[in-house]
Amino acid sequence: MHGKEKEVVMVVAHQVLSAMHAKLENPYHVALEQYDRAVRYLEISDGVKEFLKYPRREFTVNFPVKRDDGTVEMFTGYRVHHNTVLGPSKGGIRFSMAVNLDEVRALAMWMTWKCALVGLPYGGAKGGVIVDPKTLSPHELESLTRRYASELIPLISPHSDIPAPDMGTNPQVMAWFMDTYSMTVGYSVPAIVTGKPVNIGGSEGRNEATGRGVIICMEESLKDKGRYRAEDIRVAIQGFGNVGSNAALYAHSLGYRVVGVSDIEGGIYNEHGLDVEAARVHLKKYGNFDGFVGGERINNEELITCDCDVLIPAAMEGQLTQHNAPHIRASLIVEGANGPTSPAADDILNERGIQVIPDILANAGGVVVSYFEWVQDLQSFFWDEDEVHRQLERAMRKSYLKTQEMAEKHDVDMRTAAQLTAIKRVADAVTVRGFYP
Ligand code: GLU
Repeated sequence: MHGKEKEVVMVVAHQVLSAMHAKLENPYHVALEQYDRAVRYLEISDGVKEFLKYPRREFTVNFPVKRDDGTVEMFTGYRVHHNTVLGPSKGGIRFSMAVNLDEVRALAMWMTWKCALVGLPYGGAKGGVIVDPKTLSPHELESLTRRYASELIPLISPHSDIPAPDMGTNPQVMAWFMDTYSMTVGYSVPAIVTGKPVNIGGSEGRNEATGRGVIICMEESLKDKGRYRAEDIRVAIQGFGNVGSNAALYAHSLGYRVVGVSDIEGGIYNEHGLDVEAARVHLKKYGNFDGFVGGERINNEELITCDCDVLIPAAMEGQLTQHNAPHIRASLIVEGANGPTSPAADDILNERGIQVIPDILANAGGVVVSYFEWVQDLQSFFWDEDEVHRQLERAMRKSYLKTQEMAEKHDVDMRTAAQLTAIKRVADAVTVRGFYP
């Protein structure tokens, strides 16, 4: 085989393997396993323990969308409310071919813990539609969004369930969502979704909030390990969507050496550091990193195991497995994605002394600024960008320290500490509210 052919075969083999891993690791099983691992450190009643495992409501909808050529296609979507004890449920909406009910259940459960950990007055939810948004025209995407939003009307409101962007959705999708809800009730309701464009009630600083929060957590962990110079820290980031690209840009702006980035088709690596802004512009212009001159081309598996100090998985679930965890060279992992690490991989990483800053802490910056957006909308009183960044930073550092204290108290890893801090807050609220009737 020629070099090029071999490369193609390897890329295909890698994609098949990744798909197999994705199939093997059911995200809801992962979420439940993490829950079991954490809950044993807590003294809560068996009834409450059991209650918290279940999603409160699960909504499935099959709906038609008219394509531009006049044909009609059916789509399936979900919205799951995991828990609503601390307040309205909160969580994003995902447009992806990998969406299924168990994935949405897992993501909703993680939202419950994420909101509880960072002290927000919210429960957890998630929604998704099985669709590759790249295959839709802008008009078809708008139709799909509006029809899905309209199907969710019985479930959502600013006081019951507040959606936001996630994988495959963006501020424009949120604008259509907000408009559909507003047209239905007859007046404008900005607080129905967060992550909207700023000119219709979105918050300054929301778009980059998740990525910034990831880097704030990375800094807290690095500071803990002793004094360091930012340019000596080599950061590799898997995923160049909203989370990955903003984490890369923010890390780069703070002087960290971003050595690797990737998107779904693979990435680029340069041990001396990449020009992150140039990589962003290249990806936007060409749709992939082919022909990028500032780094060598690598595949996604190579990115995960590349030579770096900090690895930021910011793509999707199930990326760090028992197969690649033994080969990871980073000494710190900061989870930008939800659920990127399997419990088996967690065990290997813990064993190897590699610290993992878990998703519900590391990527909470998004929902923190979503909360700020919702508060601003409800009060019709808007903050400037500096204020948003300052409050985000304060919330992230506080949550990091709280998690670390819990880790020390119980002598557990950061994931277990974050989960048990969150579970305790929700369990205490359930206990004091009691079970109805
Ligand atoms: N989709 C984001 C997450 O997974 C944000 C959710 C929100 O802002 O409600 O945390």
